[in-house]
Amino acid sequence: MFLTVFLVGGAAFAVRRMGGSVGAQGAIVGIGLIFVMLAQLALPDGNPLRVATGGSVWSWVTLLGIGVVIFSYFWLLKTLRSRAANTLPHAVKSNKMSDAELERYARHIVLREVGGQGQRKLRNARVLVVGAGGLGSPVLQYLAAAGVGTVGVIDDDIVSASNLQRQVLFDENDVGTAKVFAAQMKLKALNPFVDVLPYNRKFTAENGTDLVGEFDLILDGTDTFATRAVVNKACVEATKPLISGAIGQWEGQVTVFDPARGDPCYACLFPTEPADGLAPSCAEAGVVGALPGIIGSMMASEAIKEIVGAGKSLRSEMLIFDALYGESRKINIERRVDCKVCGDGNG
Ligand SMILES: [Zn+2]
Repeated sequence: MFLTVFLVGGAAFAVRRMGGSVGAQGAIVGIGLIFVMLAQLALPDGNPLRVATGGSVWSWVTLLGIGVVIFSYFWLLKTLRSRAANTLPHAVKSNKMSDAELERYARHIVLREVGGQGQRKLRNARVLVVGAGGLGSPVLQYLAAAGVGTVGVIDDDIVSASNLQRQVLFDENDVGTAKVFAAQMKLKALNPFVDVLPYNRKFTAENGTDLVGEFDLILDGTDTFATRAVVNKACVEATKPLISGAIGQWEGQVTVFDPARGDPCYACLFPTEPADGLAPSCAEAGVVGALPGIIGSMMASEAIKEIVGAGKSLRSEMLIFDALYGESRKINIERRVDCKVCGDGNG
């Protein structure tokens, strides 16, 4: 009997080595089993072939039963595992990280709040960065370095010499190049394991909602009320969380807007465009060089927390940092039921 098992198993193994499928292996084992069981049933007692293949059909039935139980156990385990993976907010790919990735992300993997599972969530994440300027530079660099698998970047601007005082993603050689293409080149050089999707255009009401729908999380580092309002509306419509940063002169702010989960949206805070002169742009009012580095890095760390599910994010809170006095404070912000964008529209 054991000799028969050995011969059938050997034949199945040989098929596998020759490139045969699991189905072909199963067919060989099945045919072998049917053959010996028929031999047990059809041949008379004492027949040399019947003796050689075990002498009784019951030992084969028992073996088949054990095989069915083991197969069913692993099949059930596999089904439960795939179901658990699909119900996670960020489905975990089953494919393993390479040795090069494990080495690259070692300082994340040893972090209790990230670990191997968190790193795989980062790898599976799709994040869109709106604006490749002062805030976009550190945001893009830290997201790519952290191993966010797909990083989209949308901006219609070109690199100019006056950007280089704070937009550290670019250098002298990039002046005159479209920001999204210069960014793509720099990010791929920083981390070849991430996909960078450049969109060399302005984020508009027409293209915004479809684009936002392709990503899990949006980061807004643009610097005009009009664009921020359009990005906010697209994120509310697509029910995607929006990490928002803003800077001016020596002060910056960062928060997470997510009305789909009970938090305010940008329009809850700023329902109407500020009067001329009340919210001057960086070009008009100036901005200190290191400030976008601080606020952009905070945005990137909020994004990493959001993706891996670590700590407490800046939802319903706004962190305000004053670089001139080295002070930071947090204020609570609330969703407005009458908000024109995320509420009933009566506001
Ligand atoms: Zn709102």
